[in-house]
Amino acid sequence: MVLLDGKKTALDLREQLKLKVSGRQAGMPSPKLAAILVGNNGASETYVESKEKACLEAGIRSELIRFPESCTEQELLGKIEELNRNEDIDGILVQLPLPAQMDEQKITRAVAPEKDVDGFHPENIGKLTLGMETYVPATPLGIMQLLEAYKINTSGMHTLVIGRSAIVGTPISILLSRNTNPGNCTVTLAHSKTKNLTELSHQADIIIAALGKPEFLKANMVKEGAVVIDVGITRIESKDLPKGYRIAGDVDFENVAPKCSFITPVPGGVGAMTIAALLMNTVKAWQKRRF
Ligand code: NAP
Repeated sequence: MVLLDGKKTALDLREQLKLKVSGRQAGMPSPKLAAILVGNNGASETYVESKEKACLEAGIRSELIRFPESCTEQELLGKIEELNRNEDIDGILVQLPLPAQMDEQKITRAVAPEKDVDGFHPENIGKLTLGMETYVPATPLGIMQLLEAYKINTSGMHTLVIGRSAIVGTPISILLSRNTNPGNCTVTLAHSKTKNLTELSHQADIIIAALGKPEFLKANMVKEGAVVIDVGITRIESKDLPKGYRIAGDVDFENVAPKCSFITPVPGGVGAMTIAALLMNTVKAWQKRRF
């Protein structure tokens, strides 16, 4: 069994991005990412902090714009409009989830597609579906980078994606079914109404678990030699730990890992790759706008 080291692969990618940024012509501004955070969600705070730190290390400027939980949709839309027009901003991300009074789709649509480094705008999702050049959402892009870094053969493989969210399950299922490398998989996209999941997972050469149910994928659901990618991140209360919680993935790692040819750990797998992929998109937006 080989551990797919997302932390190390992400570090290598971030190093390459740093070189790209530092190698720019004299006088050219470095890339700049604007991150919008609404409210005080603990997990969102942690994600945004990690993204800011990673930006700084890669030579990317970042600006965090905070709004209180009580802010209105209009206030947020006004800020996005301002950032869309701001020539100094290359990428914009709005940290999700947003408070209940906000229409997430409306906010996502407000970000200019050319600055949409999260790849959530319908125009960018449409391009992804058509196989056109676009910003691929960070988590699926990170998974593709990890498969590529470890030269995992995906061609002709049966891939089971568990979970059909717009940010992970659906886009990774589209990417892996394309005529690309990685890609050329025969993809099954499972969700909460799927009836024969264990039967399907037994047939799968590659399983991508993205459902948000801690340790859901058990050893008896996985065939010998499978590649398992664990996207899940759930905080489980653990009073004896300094943070008061531990992070659990969607895979029962201890029992599944011995059966796998490759598997991602949690943490240190897909999460680390997601941040590197966001930086990739930001540098790409910068190159497109300024080169
Ligand atoms: P989500 O929007 O909550 O969607 C969950 C999906 O799982 C839904 O499609 C749901 O089906 C399906 N599902 C739920 N129970 C199921 C079951 N018993 N069997 C089969 N499918 C089931 O999820 P998400 O936003 O994609 O997030 C999934 C997990 O990934 C979460 O733990 C999240 O924290 C994590 N995540 C990690 C990263 C990272 O960087 N590592 C990034 C994003 C998300 P229905 O559609 O039928 O409801």
